[in-house]
Amino acid sequence: MKKDTIIYEAHNNLYLNITNKCTADCVFCIKRYSDGVYGYDLRLTREPALSDIIKELSQIDISQYEEIVFTGLGEPLVRLDDVLEITRWIRTRGLPVRLDTIGHAKLLYPGRNVAEELADAGMKVVSISLNAHDEETYDDLCNPKFKNSYGKMLEFARDVSKNGMELRFTVVNLPVVDIDKCREIAKEYCADLKVRGYGGPV
Ligand code: SF4
Repeated sequence: MKKDTIIYEAHNNLYLNITNKCTADCVFCIKRYSDGVYGYDLRLTREPALSDIIKELSQIDISQYEEIVFTGLGEPLVRLDDVLEITRWIRTRGLPVRLDTIGHAKLLYPGRNVAEELADAGMKVVSISLNAHDEETYDDLCNPKFKNSYGKMLEFARDVSKNGMELRFTVVNLPVVDIDKCREIAKEYCADLKVRGYGGPV
């Protein structure tokens, strides 16, 4: 049986792949055309337990990396409590932590202040998949599991900044996406915008 890739490295960063679950089903998702990135197979045969993730992290000299990033082939915030615990563990060792997320936290956890909890745990950067310049395009591209995901994602983005974390947006450079409007949104939210290329089939 293959060993699942929970942790992988690239660009001087260490990446954490803690789930394949997601609250969206984006038409451009890597899952639709590949098993992973940078030559790593990120399909999990089972979600790793928190203790397994911490155990693997403990076996690595994490101080050699610039940043530890929750990302991978899924939405890390479906495991919010584990993200918080792992973030605390890393922060006590002095490394900066980034979360890559689709940003549906307010819909996943309506009774919690997720941004505040992340900031309290020591999260430094939150990179949210903006993905579109308006709700209609967003829904077409991302097939979110919740209604009003676009608006709630933007509300979460405000929370991120309000709680002192660095906010970034990402968007995939597809013909239906108005990148200039996305830049305007990013400016309004005082966030950097990273425009990514699409590497899948057309
Ligand atoms: S949010 Fe990310 S992991 Fe989820 S479907 Fe979209 S691209 Fe894939």
